Amino acid sequence: MGLLSEGSPLTWEETKKYADHVRNHGVQQFINLYERLKDRKGDVLKWGDEIEYMLVRLNDEAQTAQLSLKGPELLKILQQQEHTNPSNHPTTWRPEYANYMVEGTPGKPYGGTLAHFNIVEANMRLRREEVRKLINEQMGEAPLSLTAYPRLGCPKFTHPTYEPNPTDTGASKSIFIPDEVIFSAHPRYRTLTRNIRKRRGEKVCINIPIFKDIKTPSPFIEKFLNDADGESARAAMADHIYMDAMAFGMGNSCIQMTFQACCIEEARSLYDQLNPFCPVMLALSAASPFYRGYVSDIDCRWYVISSSVDDRTEEERGLKKLKENKFRIHKSRYDSIDSYLSESSDRYNDIDLVIDEDICKRLQDAGIDRLLARHVSHLFIRDPVSLFSELINQDDSQDSDHFENIQSTNWQTMRFKPPPVNSTIGWRVEFRPMEVQLTDFENAAYVVFMVLITRVILSFELNFLIPISKVDANLNEAQKRDAVLNGKFYFRKDVRTCPKHCKGNVDNEYVLMDINTIINGGPIEGGADFPGIIPLINQYLRSVNIDLDTRCTILTYLNLISDRASGKLKTTARWMRDYVQQHPDYKQDSVISEKINYDLLTLCNKITKGEHHPKGLIHTQSSRTKDDLPLSLKKQVDQDANVIQKHEEEMRIKSWPEQNGV
Ligand code: GLU
Ligand code: MG
Repeated sequence: MGLLSEGSPLTWEETKKYADHVRNHGVQQFINLYERLKDRKGDVLKWGDEIEYMLVRLNDEAQTAQLSLKGPELLKILQQQEHTNPSNHPTTWRPEYANYMVEGTPGKPYGGTLAHFNIVEANMRLRREEVRKLINEQMGEAPLSLTAYPRLGCPKFTHPTYEPNPTDTGASKSIFIPDEVIFSAHPRYRTLTRNIRKRRGEKVCINIPIFKDIKTPSPFIEKFLNDADGESARAAMADHIYMDAMAFGMGNSCIQMTFQACCIEEARSLYDQLNPFCPVMLALSAASPFYRGYVSDIDCRWYVISSSVDDRTEEERGLKKLKENKFRIHKSRYDSIDSYLSESSDRYNDIDLVIDEDICKRLQDAGIDRLLARHVSHLFIRDPVSLFSELINQDDSQDSDHFENIQSTNWQTMRFKPPPVNSTIGWRVEFRPMEVQLTDFENAAYVVFMVLITRVILSFELNFLIPISKVDANLNEAQKRDAVLNGKFYFRKDVRTCPKHCKGNVDNEYVLMDINTIINGGPIEGGADFPGIIPLINQYLRSVNIDLDTRCTILTYLNLISDRASGKLKTTARWMRDYVQQHPDYKQDSVISEKINYDLLTLCNKITKGEHHPKGLIHTQSSRTKDDLPLSLKKQVDQDANVIQKHEEEMRIKSWPEQNGV
């Protein structure tokens, strides 16, 4: 989750003193980068995925599950392998927020051939195997791609077990989560935890609605032990699951994807165009219904993480008049984006963008256009929340650490990434909302689907823009229980009009749709038909040369996404809810007991390993060749046979043409 600088971390009081210094130099570093790289062109499509794993320990004898805090130990070995063979290692490993997490990526980015889609899943499988080789499977250890651990913060939820430290000496002061959970082989994570709390002036506070089952106490109000100063009792809301630490959010897992664009304009356009997909993909990937041992009424982690790193003071949150602070800030550092970046997207920028005017002016004086200047000066309303003494003084023409410091602690749905100093990497866009799925097959499906969306957008010059306030409304909708079935999302009606040619009232350009219509197509309000993302992708696939195996792989993936959208298959969140509802020990009281947790995770592990086939969640546990495709898909392959060629060929990727580009 961001930049790992070497050195000794400063306290919050010291960091605060350097806030302007970091911002000043961070802005200069961005200006220098921009100046050098704004005309960089001709980078090819490259992309990659990041998956965060949790190390779980299933104790068959005691029938309990725990999170194993082995991350740092495993990482050492995982990274050693990659360091001894840096140019040619198929995987890369990074730490994540918690000691029970590791993050894996492909060793090299994938490129522009469709045939790469055939190795995505294999690479994910390899990553998991690499971890499996190092853990003790006999002891029940397993690498699971779980978005949220159901009993995070419950008594004895880790192995080894530690006690929380709610006193001032603790980093998070949580009454639920011991600091030993936080990644310990690098000081960044503990420092962030402490500094976010200190900057905010109190513990972080997360309240999410509890799912009210027939025997759930009403009102649902908890009594907290070890809440000596009563802070938790005051912060907790009735009928909500209360959480009080960064780990409750940043200790969750996701899939992120990064796309390299051919130039800065294409990156800006892609950033804008992918934004309306954030809520849709969050709802489609929903996988986190349980928190702190309770069944919640939400299906996704987003709001939980958002609150878990919300370092805004009361003044900034609008609870007190501004005195010490400069801005009233509407969102957490971890939240949705607030502005589109391309000139022709500007008409959809309809929310109040809080910016640092001085920084904005400085950027514009340096030749940076208004929208990009506003974007950066919006990111820079934040203070640095971790700073290392060795890195205070930097050469702004060579370094970008201060810029990255602010950039990488703005955890938004999308991230616009300039090329790193002195590298061969181009302008990139990161897509960050998706929840991680249990199997490599599903994760590959979501990843490939997203890459295809980018290809369709760029090749067909499609336009998905809607007012950014409507995307925010969608993000809220996406997290609700069963949003994929019942949610209504603002979505663009006509996706074929280039943003440059859109005129008139933006509010006439979208309607409310359900996810099924968005993904699979169908009639919309006003009598028209929405084409559907998957039909558009199929149209695209018929227009490119693609070999039979790749086509079959893609079909199995699209089939999963299509059936999740239509409700033929359940989301992971719905599947987990149903499992708990039917568990013999479940008492209709919204409680995930140790035994339910153990049984659920044992089953999840079996699903991940392909040993159990969960009805209604997935059709298959790996992508297929034509022979083992189901009949309906076989037919589709045959229909496409006339355009299918034997050889893997370069995808023909068109950028937005200059004359009507954005
Ligand atoms: N784990 C975080 C999430 O679930 C993301 C952290 C990161 O930026 O890598 O969204
Ligand atoms: Mg990460």
